[in-house]
Amino acid sequence: MSDFATVIGLEVHIELQTASKMFCSCPNHFGDPPNTNICPVCLGLPGALPRPNAAGVDAAIRMALALGCKVADRSKFDRKNYFYPDLPKGYQISQLDEPIGSDGLVEVPGGGSVRIVRVQLEEDAGKLQHEAQGAVVDFNRAGVPLLEIVSAPDLRSPQEARAYWEEIRRIALALGISDARMEEGSVRADANISIRPVGSEELNPRVEIKNMNSFRFLERALVYEAGRQAEIYRQGGRVGQETRGWDDPRGVTFSQRSKEEAEDYRYFPEPDLLPFAIDRQHVEELRSSLPELPSGRRRRLLWLGLPEEQVRLIAESRGRTSFFDAAMTAGGEATELGKWICGDLGRLENDGRFDFEEPAFAPEELAALLKSLAEGDLTGPGAKQVIQRLAQDGGTVRAAIAELGLGKMDDLEAVRAEVRQVLEEQPKALADLRAGKQQVMGFLVGQVMRRTRGRVAPDVASRLIAEEVGQ
Ligand code: ZN
Ligand code: MN
Repeated sequence: MSDFATVIGLEVHIELQTASKMFCSCPNHFGDPPNTNICPVCLGLPGALPRPNAAGVDAAIRMALALGCKVADRSKFDRKNYFYPDLPKGYQISQLDEPIGSDGLVEVPGGGSVRIVRVQLEEDAGKLQHEAQGAVVDFNRAGVPLLEIVSAPDLRSPQEARAYWEEIRRIALALGISDARMEEGSVRADANISIRPVGSEELNPRVEIKNMNSFRFLERALVYEAGRQAEIYRQGGRVGQETRGWDDPRGVTFSQRSKEEAEDYRYFPEPDLLPFAIDRQHVEELRSSLPELPSGRRRRLLWLGLPEEQVRLIAESRGRTSFFDAAMTAGGEATELGKWICGDLGRLENDGRFDFEEPAFAPEELAALLKSLAEGDLTGPGAKQVIQRLAQDGGTVRAAIAELGLGKMDDLEAVRAEVRQVLEEQPKALADLRAGKQQVMGFLVGQVMRRTRGRVAPDVASRLIAEEVGQ
């Protein structure tokens, strides 16, 4: 592969989370019984007239702004004509030459910057389902507002293409314009890929892989396709421009349509919708109300000194970021907060026992926990118990310490009594330690911690054990 460079461009489709569909008042809601959210407009019955949903237009403007695009002063809708059973009207309302946004730029984490050619607004099609008795169509999705984001062919590897797509999804989530659920098909991508000799600037015929709905599939399909094309060139052949599908179980792309069979969409301006002006002042209001974007979160967390892995983990989630911010505002030290959010709390989140979006306890309590640790009111192991308790039952650090009886033991003689008790119960370990086997120290410290439920700091326990055995 090293003698070829890969050239990839992506078209990402994102379903918008509006209350109603793009051109009618049917609910935009996933998962309802088939064909219940339909009307003459989204079914394209004769005489029905579409009306644009202002919330959809605003979402498109916000996405365009977040991607650094120019927002058009004037935009319009066009008809893209084709026949497919999931398309009740025989055309899709889309945008051809006056998209809402154009000429943007996005930074890909761990990659380069990628130019955004356009951000346009269109409508989704229905869903074709293949069942035992034949194919059936659910038109609930027909007319759902859809953003199409087209990148320039600036992506240089399947990995970068995936990272770019993931970043676009994160931005949509940060803006709150989509639930961006992969498993519900809310985010899909078409990829264009060609390869060329390293150092060459020519663009070879490209292959389009349509309708990917998984990051992993996309990456696998592109890796396969780059290899397939390289093999053709090495054998002196030519890659034809075509559309190919991805067969994941077999791990191959397969030809669907050649250039000669490519469809002519016969675009023309949508006669039922007037071109519309986009008010500059409104655009500026939307710009100033944009939330912090994932790239901004990452820069800020890096600047605070968090390691890159933690930065990535925290910044990709709005919940984790706002939890972090609130705990820091309450006085928590950034790098310590990073450790807890990605460590103990992250593990609880993975187990489904904690949710940063709806935390069982206030982020201020994490700051309080760090303070208790720093001031020596709590030991490290005690703090872990407190955080588990808070994640489970909510409440405050102070109350959890009292309920769990975790206040650090201040009375050194009381601790010494516990240490003696442990040594008495562990004659074998004691003998080993006396014989110079320092490895058993860790075990004995652990026993002291267990007896005292973590109320003794490990260094104090090991110092007292050493004193007891006369070392
Ligand atoms: Zn409708
Ligand atoms: Mn499209």
